[in-house]
Amino acid sequence: MTQCRECNKELSSNNPRQEFCNDYCRGAYHRRKYRQQAVEEAEERREARSRGDGRGTEKERKEAREAMARIVGALSPRIQRRV
Ligand SMILES: [Zn+2]
Repeated sequence: MTQCRECNKELSSNNPRQEFCNDYCRGAYHRRKYRQQAVEEAEERREARSRGDGRGTEKERKEAREAMARIVGALSPRIQRRV
């Protein structure tokens, strides 16, 4: 017995090409499938972007840390003298 792919209701028709009990179920199924695909694609784009940024920011973060250490090292004596 064929079942509706959206609501799992058994279909009265034995037509193997019929996958949904009505247009509403067909529309709901395809909307969900499309949304799922869009979510997965957005997720992949986000991951690819964070992977790409990760390489860049790791180097940038190291440079920023070193620059900050130099600045702090250069400023600290003056700050301490002022206090
Ligand atoms: Zn249905």
